This record gives sequence, C-alpha cells and structure tokens, in this order.
Amino acid sequence: MSRRGVAILGATGSIGTSALRVIARHPDQFRVVALTAHANREALDQLVTAHHPVFAGLSGSAGGGDVLLAAATHPDVDIVLNAVVGAAGLAATLAALDAGKRVALANKESLVVGGQLVLEAARRGGGELVPVDSEHSAILQALGSAPTSSVRRLVLTASGGPFRASSAAEVVTATVGQTLRHPTWSMGRKITVDSATLANKALEVIEAHFLFGLPFDAIDVVVHPQSIVHSFVEFVDGSMLAQLGVPSMELPILYAFTHPERSTDVGIPRLDPVAMGSLTFEAVRHDVFPMLSIGVGAARRGGAGAAVFNAANEVAVGHFLDGRITFGGIPEVVGETVDTLGSLAGGTRQELLDADARARAHVEGLVRC
Ligand code: NAD
Ligand code: MG
Repeated sequence: MSRRGVAILGATGSIGTSALRVIARHPDQFRVVALTAHANREALDQLVTAHHPVFAGLSGSAGGGDVLLAAATHPDVDIVLNAVVGAAGLAATLAALDAGKRVALANKESLVVGGQLVLEAARRGGGELVPVDSEHSAILQALGSAPTSSVRRLVLTASGGPFRASSAAEVVTATVGQTLRHPTWSMGRKITVDSATLANKALEVIEAHFLFGLPFDAIDVVVHPQSIVHSFVEFVDGSMLAQLGVPSMELPILYAFTHPERSTDVGIPRLDPVAMGSLTFEAVRHDVFPMLSIGVGAARRGGAGAAVFNAANEVAVGHFLDGRITFGGIPEVVGETVDTLGSLAGGTRQELLDADARARAHVEGLVRC
C-alpha cells in the first residue's frame, strides 16, 4: 500500500510532537505532507528541515486564517491530525471532513463547539472522524463492531489531576505552578489546567456523546489515578470491556492513523501487569470540581450551550494562567456565563460563532469588574 500523507495542524505542540515521533518510526506507512504552527516560526522551520513537508504555514501570521484550511484540504493529504488547541480548530475539522479526509481528532473542542456540524460534514464529504483522545480511542477499540443498541453505558476514566486528594479550600486557592504539575500526563498548558478543574472531562463527555451517539445519561466518569485503564464500555448484558495501556499519547495517535488495523510499534513501552501493581477507582468529587457538571449541564441544554461553556472556559483558563483570576474563579466565571448565555441558539455555524464570541466577551467583562 502506498504511504499515507499526513497533515499535522499544531505540529509544535505536545500532540504534534508525539505524532511526529510516531510517523518517524513508520516511514514505510506515513509521510508528513503538511505542518502548521501558530506563532513560533523558528520551531516550525526546524520541523520543516527535519520532515520536508510539501506545505508549511503559520496560522497566527497575517493572513494565517487560510493556513489551517490549506493544510487540512491539501490534495496529497489522506489523514489530518487536528492537534490545534481550542475552538480555533473547528473550521479545519469541517473542511477536512468535507474534503473526504480522515480526521484524527485531538482537538476535542471541534466536537464540543460544533458536534452536529462536524457529523454533517463527515456525512456530506465522506470524511472519517477517528478520535485521538485516549479515552475515546479506548472506547472505539473496546466497541469493535458492536452496534450502539448493545451498549448500556460508557465509563470515561479521569486521572483526577493534581488536586484529586486536596481539600476544597486547597483547590480554590491552587497556584498556577501546582496546577501545571500533572501526575500522569505531560500535555499543553490549556488541557493541563482543564485536567485539574475536570473541565477536560466535561469536554470529553460531550465528545463521546457525538462520537458514539449515546445520550448524556449513558456516559459516566470514574476517577482512576494510575491512568492505565483508558475507559470502559458496558454492554446491555452487563459485560464490561476496557482498553489498557501506559499513559502515552503515541498509542492512540498511531491507532487513529491505522484504525481499524493495527501496526507494530517499538517506541511505546509495553504494559506489564505485574509491574502495574494495583489499579484503583473512586467517585468524582463533584462539589470540589464543579466544572464537570457545569459543562455537561451546558451541553444538555442543546443549542449553543456547549459552545458557550467551551469559550468561557478557554478565556477563564487564559486569565488564570496570567494570574488575573484564582483557580476557584474559573468555575465561578464559567458557571455565571453558562447561566447567562447557555440557552443561545446554535443551529448554524454563524449562531455558534456568535455565541462563542458573546461568551468570550462576557467572561472578559466579569474578569474586569
Ligand atoms: P499544545 O498547546 O501543546 O499545542 C497546541 C498547538 O496548536 C501548537 O502547535 C500551537 O502552535 C497551535 N495553536 C495554538 N493556538 C492556535 C490557534 N489559535 N490556531 C491554530 N493553531 C494554534 O496543546 P496539546 O496539548 O498538544 O493539545 C492539542 C489538542 O489536543 C487540544 O485540543 C487538547 O485538548 C487535545 N489533547 C491533548 C492531549 C495531550 O496529551 N496533550 C491529550 C488528548 C487531547
Ligand atoms: Mg483524554
């Protein structure tokens, strides 16, 4: 089979870097066709020298808006790895699916903001949506060819983040330094904060809802501090299947490229059940981590609810990282914004973009006063 061409949107990030390692181990199967970065020209230049893509561009430069779309729809590209952070990834996901590409989706915000539009684009263009998120990759693998009607519920695992065992008082006053020290995963700053607040798990419940076509009532979350079991599927007969692996994104990235086939890989450490020791599970402390229920509650409203939650969270996380609000301020401003704007209409792309913009402006207003 000829080598499949890959575009990596957000190539300088955590997922982008992992993906380039995966591709470098499989030069017979994949070739880098397009790379984008947002602002760091020097880092992008280094990647161009190392990987010789046909196309490379900075999405944050003047006129950079078209860079993501050009990479996502390039004729030599078969697989688009969307590893951009935030709602900024939506347009490229839609364009790639419309162009009939396989989208290996790390940018979960695409599905959170525009889930219905993304599914429609895939149907229209014949593109294929394959998750990179480790939980959703686990579910995809555990499901196999089982029909949705045979599934009772999905159980997403969450590491619990750095404050899993902290008191409520410690959590609301957590510093940026403490928040960025994730116990099991090394990731970009925004998702690391989202993992600490559990906003990330809200985004993932919404992502699972659209990917697997199950109602929110059939998607649960359990805390699993070792991050070895990447999620469970419970079938109607009570049987549960899980997928296990070391906490490395290289495995779900590779699987998103090869699904439903598998490829041998020598770069990812193998899992030794004896060395793994004990695997533990505990309930989510919703009172200490309200972002999970705020996010899922927003999505249950339908319309632009999830888009409003996502936009408010993106802006709040930025202000937390810049020291303008506290850790406890994140659920405060996001919850207030969802209460105020969560019922906005979101049937069209324009309505979703308007709701996103209004939510961002609303948080800015709250932070300023
Ligand atoms: P990161 O911050 O390390 O990298 C983000 C990349 O996107 C960089 O290349 C950056 O230049 C680019 N970028 C930033 N802002 C952009 C914008 N406005 N437009 C276009 N490009 C932009 O982030 P990451 O940890 O690699 O995460 C990327 C995505 O993958 C996120 O949606 C995240 O939720 C998801 N994800 C990450 C992990 C992980 O382990 N890091 C796991 C699961 C899902
Ligand atoms: Mg995940």
